[in-house]
Amino acid sequence: MAVIIKDSECIACGSCLPACPFGAIELEDESAKIGDACTQCGACLDGICPVDAIEREAGDEKAPAADLDAYKGVWVLIEHFENKIRSVSLELLGQARLLAGKLGEEVAGVVIGHGVEDLASQVFAGGADKVYLADDPLLAHYSTDGFSNTLTDLIQTYHPNVILLGATNDGRDIGPRVACRIGTGLTADCTYLSIDEATKLVVWTRPAFGGNIMANILCPNSRPQMGTVRPNVFKRPEPDYRRGGETVRISCKLKPEDIRTKFISLQRVGEASCNLEEAEFIVSGGRGLGDPKYFDMIQELADALGGVVGASRAAVDSGWKPHLHQVGQTGKTVAPKVYIAVGISGAIQHLAGMSGSDTVIAINRDPDAPIFKKANYGIVGDFKEVLPRLIAQVKKIKGL
Ligand SMILES: Cc1cc2nc3c(=O)[nH]c(=O)nc-3n(C[C@H](O)[C@H](O)[C@H](O)COP(=O)(O)OP(=O)(O)OC[C@H]3O[C@@H](n4cnc5c(N)ncnc54)[C@H](O)[C@@H]3O)c2cc1C
Repeated sequence: MAVIIKDSECIACGSCLPACPFGAIELEDESAKIGDACTQCGACLDGICPVDAIEREAGDEKAPAADLDAYKGVWVLIEHFENKIRSVSLELLGQARLLAGKLGEEVAGVVIGHGVEDLASQVFAGGADKVYLADDPLLAHYSTDGFSNTLTDLIQTYHPNVILLGATNDGRDIGPRVACRIGTGLTADCTYLSIDEATKLVVWTRPAFGGNIMANILCPNSRPQMGTVRPNVFKRPEPDYRRGGETVRISCKLKPEDIRTKFISLQRVGEASCNLEEAEFIVSGGRGLGDPKYFDMIQELADALGGVVGASRAAVDSGWKPHLHQVGQTGKTVAPKVYIAVGISGAIQHLAGMSGSDTVIAINRDPDAPIFKKANYGIVGDFKEVLPRLIAQVKKIKGL
């Protein structure tokens, strides 16, 4: 544990308990103890303890790692589900190729799971030179413990320079945990990646302050350099099935007791209706709908197009749709062929999530709504009049 409490000096006064934003400190046996919830943020260090009993473990300061040059290779954690690689991992392989080309290093995909050997050929086709394959029954389903232990072990064995992860549920779960264990940094939700020519460090670019500025973040003192990237930020490269590579099979060191959660069953929670990130057609509703019942119309158009339903944050905050439908800076980043925005004004935070759409169609009764600046086609009018006609036309064309 990087932050420690010296038992011999702790007077169990409890001053440090409220200082921890994660509730990780408890009083036990007449001294305070730091538990698993500790993120090493250091909030308990700054003059909180009246007897200076809390400190960082020796050697844990930001000293440069022993030999940074020994860390080589650009890795991508390959996410997959039901034997299919998630699109974001293929998008990241394309970026990994660009970064690795500039660094003169190789690209590797890390495939963790069970019965997943067949995925290696797709990872090579996506741009990898090497696949690290951890295949074990204990890894058949994603678990925080199983996957983070395995990735940590791989990093400690093979010392990669860079690791890219999707800013997905799994990537956001495993990335910070592994970075913390390894003692390196992680930049979340990047929108652009490049190499700083002078230092050969990855420049992780991400929006900050509500998207008003773009921050360039470097990780100079520790390795690997880690970051997450949202799905659909980058285009995925065309697969090249002539490519091959080396598969490194990892013998899994996990024991059943290492995994503190138990897989009971897979519950599909509206997956078909909200797989926004991979959808080709999205029809999104905003506050302009005025009433959640009008999402039925949005759904009808989405169904007729074979698409899925999205929502603005205003619609989500109103409780009209669950958050998993939200498009935008604090929702999903989407890149469909066609994005239809209905009763959505086009705030910058909404545009941040759908600007990658090939074609944008906006329906809004305000001709000055900002969404029209982004739209390829705009319909000025009340959605209650426009949508039924649009739905009827689509159904007619599709013979529905
Ligand atoms: C840090 C931060 C993060 C954010 N993240 C997101 C995000 O991820 N996603 C997101 O969407 N927003 C996000 N927002 C909120 C964003 O700023 C806007 O408030 C939000 O997008 C507005 O939603 P809206 O367009 O549905 O509503 P409004 O801005 O209220 O727009 C409603 C629109 O509907 C039109 N309208 C009204 N009646 C009709 C009608 N009958 N027919 C046709 N048109 C009609 C109006 O002309 C208007 O343009 C974020 C904000 C912040 C500060």
